Amino acid sequence: MKGFLVAVVVAWLAATSTAHAENVDVVVQAGHEGRPASCAPNHVHACNIGASSAAGREIVWTPIVADAVTKTLRAAGLRVARRPADYPQHDTARIAIFIHFDGSDPPCASGTSVGFPSTTSRTFVAAWERAYRGFFPFHVAGENISSNEEHYYGFHKVDAPQKMLIEYGELTCPAQAAWLKPRLHALGEFTAHFIIGQLR
Ligand SMILES: [Zn+2]
Repeated sequence: MKGFLVAVVVAWLAATSTAHAENVDVVVQAGHEGRPASCAPNHVHACNIGASSAAGREIVWTPIVADAVTKTLRAAGLRVARRPADYPQHDTARIAIFIHFDGSDPPCASGTSVGFPSTTSRTFVAAWERAYRGFFPFHVAGENISSNEEHYYGFHKVDAPQKMLIEYGELTCPAQAAWLKPRLHALGEFTAHFIIGQLR
């Protein structure tokens, strides 16, 4: 009887501990989405709501890209956890992508860049950079160009061998923003096809 009770408790603990987590193929996070309302309930003190310019706001653009990534991945049969900026869950995935657009003062000093932890494979990062350089016709600003990129808080929200933050371009640069704005869906589809290629 006692053994049975232990088994029931163990099963219950396993069920409750996984209730808040998802085990998926891909985590897709839209940078800044849901802020500032999501900051206080999730104990976020640096409530950065993202870049903005006359062309648009990062917080509006990132969900459009993230939704397009998610739609294309799901259509390919992959399991996706689509996340906003702040959320209580801790996920497990094969790839986690964090979607952003950069801002710069002075304008046009930046471009596209990526952030990633040391656990992400160089091959994965290089494959993305090679692919995106063939699509994005502006400046490549580099890798882990800021502490916010290299030590992005979102990296701690998921266990995944490949985690990468993408700054698709600089929305405070008029020329880049004019190119990016009509391509938000296309950026999402491009990213999804890259991910599908990596998971094959
Ligand atoms: Zn951002």
